[in-house]
Amino acid sequence: MEPVTEEQIRAAMVNCSRGEAADMTLPDLKKINWAETDYFGWRDPRSRLRGFLVHWRDDRLVGVVLRAPDSGVRRPAAMCLLCESVRQSNEIALFTARKAGASGRKGDSVGTYICADLDCSRQVRATPPGRAAPDEAVVILRSAALLTKVYAFTAAVLDGA
Ligand SMILES: [Zn+2]
Repeated sequence: MEPVTEEQIRAAMVNCSRGEAADMTLPDLKKINWAETDYFGWRDPRSRLRGFLVHWRDDRLVGVVLRAPDSGVRRPAAMCLLCESVRQSNEIALFTARKAGASGRKGDSVGTYICADLDCSRQVRATPPGRAAPDEAVVILRSAALLTKVYAFTAAVLDGA
């Protein structure tokens, strides 16, 4: 994705107050490999129940605050519905996001299963255990599929806002 600045990220958050956006803890953006990042996601180092997801919807940068469950339901394996990686159940979390605008203020939210570390971009480029590294064409396809899912997810959060 196109690189983003801290100011752009804070201004892009659609489902939290300005104060919450100003208060977010961001990773060191200088360490991010933007060329290998489809969407930028991270867990809040100060609150394990919170995460953040930011991506470009065409020219508009959209950021979403996510809430993770307090305790996961134990299943043997689970699938991330954004990057479609099948991982250990503790590596996938059901995140919910308050909707933007009026419906969010009424308490509406949307939820989906996402890699717990919000590291789908790394997953689509990862070499599966005991297999060869994915070739570039496969990564391009998985990356495009991931972005399509992220688009649909943030469209549901935006809900016209
Ligand atoms: Zn994922």
